[in-house]
Amino acid sequence: MILVLGGTTESRQLAEALTGTEVITSLAGRTADLRKPVGQVRVGGFGGAEGLAAWLRLNPVDAVIDATHPFAAQITANAAAAARETGVPHLVLRRPGWTAAPGDTWHWTDSTQEAAALLPTLGKRVFLTIGRQGLSAFKNTGLWTLARCVDPPEPRPTWCTLLLARGPFAEADELALLDQHHIDLLVTKDSGGGATAAKLTAARRREIPVVLIRRPALPPGTTAVDSIDDVLVWLGSQPR
Ligand code: NAP
Repeated sequence: MILVLGGTTESRQLAEALTGTEVITSLAGRTADLRKPVGQVRVGGFGGAEGLAAWLRLNPVDAVIDATHPFAAQITANAAAAARETGVPHLVLRRPGWTAAPGDTWHWTDSTQEAAALLPTLGKRVFLTIGRQGLSAFKNTGLWTLARCVDPPEPRPTWCTLLLARGPFAEADELALLDQHHIDLLVTKDSGGGATAAKLTAARRREIPVVLIRRPALPPGTTAVDSIDDVLVWLGSQPR
């Protein structure tokens, strides 16, 4: 049995690629629209690294594949610790980050706080696409801000204009959004992947600078791959 820690497009693709193998995908259960993967699904936290280790002891799991979002640092740390404690083979599937292309003006930062401090030097009308977590770091920039999230933040912020939308987003729509709101600065996490990359090409076309927030580091000693094919190769190499 393979435990896939999910909540991402690639975790759903992985569950499909593993058809014929017993797979259970675990979801945090935070988003309202749960797009369920194929195979078995469990929903909700495990209760920290210890809870996950206990779950791994109770269930006949042969391997844990952490296919969570690159910014879901807590569950990734928990999975690494629980796998180490129980001896269950563990692999991280992490999509590649974004890379700048000619014409891009990108400013890399290490945190939402660092990004927020930089904004007033770069623009006046901000398009904030970092999800709902960490929004409050941008509350006091004094800049007009459009914040796009999948689900509404709680409490609902009053200091920004909120746009609720779920990707994938097309470049033409991103361009129209930038134009409609006279956006002159884009802020994003380095999530990577194709579903939300159109905002970056739209920013390039409008010559708008982008502030990127770097991914949290993976736990030390973790093995990571960046494709489903590599996960399948790794699984095939595990002793039976
Ligand atoms: P997080 O901060 O790393 O995790 C917080 C807690 O949520 C974990 O300690 C764990 O609770 C629970 N949890 C998270 N992912 C889980 C999973 N797949 N199965 C069971 N429990 C899980 O996570 P997050 O950033 O809030 O993200 C939550 C989920 O949304 C993740 O699964 C991630 O793949 C997905 N997601 C996140 C982002 C993002 O930007 N962070 C974007 C898109 C999708 P316990 O300690 O109780 O086990």
